[in-house]
Amino acid sequence: MSTLTVDGLTVGYGDGAPVLDGLDLEVPDGAVVALLGANGAGKTTLLRAVAGLVPARGGRVLLDGADLGGLRAEDRVRRGLGLVPEGRGVVAELTVAENLRLGALWRHRGSARTAAVDAQYELFEPLARRRDALGHTLSGGERQMLALARALVAEPRVLLLDEPSLGLAPLVVADLLGVLRRTAERTGLTVLVAEQNVTSALSVADRGVVLSLGDVVTDRPARDLAADPALRHAYLGF
Ligand code: ATP
Repeated sequence: MSTLTVDGLTVGYGDGAPVLDGLDLEVPDGAVVALLGANGAGKTTLLRAVAGLVPARGGRVLLDGADLGGLRAEDRVRRGLGLVPEGRGVVAELTVAENLRLGALWRHRGSARTAAVDAQYELFEPLARRRDALGHTLSGGERQMLALARALVAEPRVLLLDEPSLGLAPLVVADLLGVLRRTAERTGLTVLVAEQNVTSALSVADRGVVLSLGDVVTDRPARDLAADPALRHAYLGF
């Protein structure tokens, strides 16, 4: 069964040629799917279109079979879509705790909100130690962790992540993707993660999807993709 279905999605900017041209994609329930492709392939555009942040010229996005067409980004969040954008979007002037409570605002009230925030501290121990630190004082890794925790605290069905490893040291990347993998396994969360860091992404993903020129050129089990030098060379440049 698919949680997220993208059906014939066409997206472009202004009067320009489409960036995504009739793209089809199925993200299976509870799977971690790595979205790969060269710079400019359209990964960010796909995530933003699914989240409702750029309008579609055509096609559909379905969440649990329901068409999200016409729904604004905030309504898509209420339906269960979470987005961690590239550049992270942590509020620099708020503390870690305040950022997390903000993430939980519409989902939980009162003591349930506190419990949901505490659950994130258990997953992301460094955040527990830094709960009173302001966003702008965090390291790159802590900031990315906070962005992820802030999305998870709202208990999305599907989490969309754009380049979570950007600018992070390899060990921090491994940690972060590991938490993502364990969270998906424990909660049944479905994940679509765009990554330039192909090896790390495929090491935690169930499937690897490669975009090129605005369309899906391959959608394979992550293990097969990682082991296929011809595919890697053709589409991923190594
Ligand atoms: P990257 O890894 O570099 O972020 P990407 O695969 O995420 O690449 P997109 O950012 O979706 O790719 O870009 C796809 C194409 O859309 C590129 O040609 C880009 O120049 C164009 N594009 C992206 N955002 C805009 C925008 N706001 N206005 C006009 N064109 C855009």
